[in-house]
Amino acid sequence: MKFAMIGAGAMGLRYGILLQEAGNDVTFIDTWQPHIDKIREQGGVYVMRDHKDRHLTKIKLETPESYDGDPDMLIFFVKQMQLADYLKRCSHFFNDRQYAFTCMNGMGHIEKLQKYFADDKIIGGTALIATVLPGPGEVDFMGKRGAGMMNMCPLNEKPDEMCHRLFDELQKAQMNPTLTDDFTGTLMTKVIFNSVINTICTMFEIPMGEFGNFKGAYQMGRQLIDEAYDICARAGIHLVSSRDEEMAALDHNTRIDMPLHYPSMYQDMIKDRPTEVDYINGYIADLGRKYHYEAATHLFVTQAVHLAEYHRQNE
Ligand code: NAD
Repeated sequence: MKFAMIGAGAMGLRYGILLQEAGNDVTFIDTWQPHIDKIREQGGVYVMRDHKDRHLTKIKLETPESYDGDPDMLIFFVKQMQLADYLKRCSHFFNDRQYAFTCMNGMGHIEKLQKYFADDKIIGGTALIATVLPGPGEVDFMGKRGAGMMNMCPLNEKPDEMCHRLFDELQKAQMNPTLTDDFTGTLMTKVIFNSVINTICTMFEIPMGEFGNFKGAYQMGRQLIDEAYDICARAGIHLVSSRDEEMAALDHNTRIDMPLHYPSMYQDMIKDRPTEVDYINGYIADLGRKYHYEAATHLFVTQAVHLAEYHRQNE
């Protein structure tokens, strides 16, 4: 299949390089100039796994303005606040035959994609796959080959032939996809998961295991989970896990699966980039407001992350 990876950051590189190694035709599109310059100067990207086996991988790299290909599938992996600009700059090569797929964190991206792609061409998903971009021109795939898992679901909840082909290619690339039948439930369940772990670990600049092993972790997590689940119940959003299952997943993920990992929101914080908190806890709080529910804890942690961002700017 012919892919265009919109965003050659940590996740764009991981998905794109693994799809390329599985035999697909992949072009990466990015706008971060130091990254583009470094990749061109090196003749590719340095890829590591858990900080080891650093090796150069050749990739095809373009900017939105220089690319004039016609991919079957566009995979969007940028930060929520970058998406509108990428869509505008890339729109000259969009057509109504193409599919748009994304496993970005947070909410707000689907509405933006809908401005350029028909609903039956949008496939959403979630990724529990940890990847770090240590600096321009290099990427670190955390975990062994085949580590992590992901969910995917077409927006219209009717998987067609292209959706199945994408699933097969992701399976060959060892991304461990699961095809679900509940679009909003799949995405929101992951937003709620991130609203606990990404946010708290970022605020305190700690790895996930340090939160998971803290004796107050259950109480802190449960407070955020309960508010979010109450709001989803009011909004008529069916979540794919129960509250207890979500708590158990948080516990397992932080203590057993990825105790040493710092979430992607933390990666932004330490690089003094804006975080996605407004699209995660902020999104939940905004949804609550629509249904006359004051999500006091989500509002509080949203501002606490902004305070941490502000503190770093003034250091
Ligand atoms: P990323 O920040 O690595 O890359 C996104 C874009 O930002 C790319 O275009 C990249 O070139 C650019 N960029 C990276 N560092 C920059 C810097 N210092 N200055 C300016 N531009 C920079 O983002 P990502 O981790 O690939 O995340 C993409 C989406 O996937 C997000 O919604 C994220 O929450 C989600 N996600 C990430 C992970 C992960 O482990 N990284 C896991 C699951 C979901």
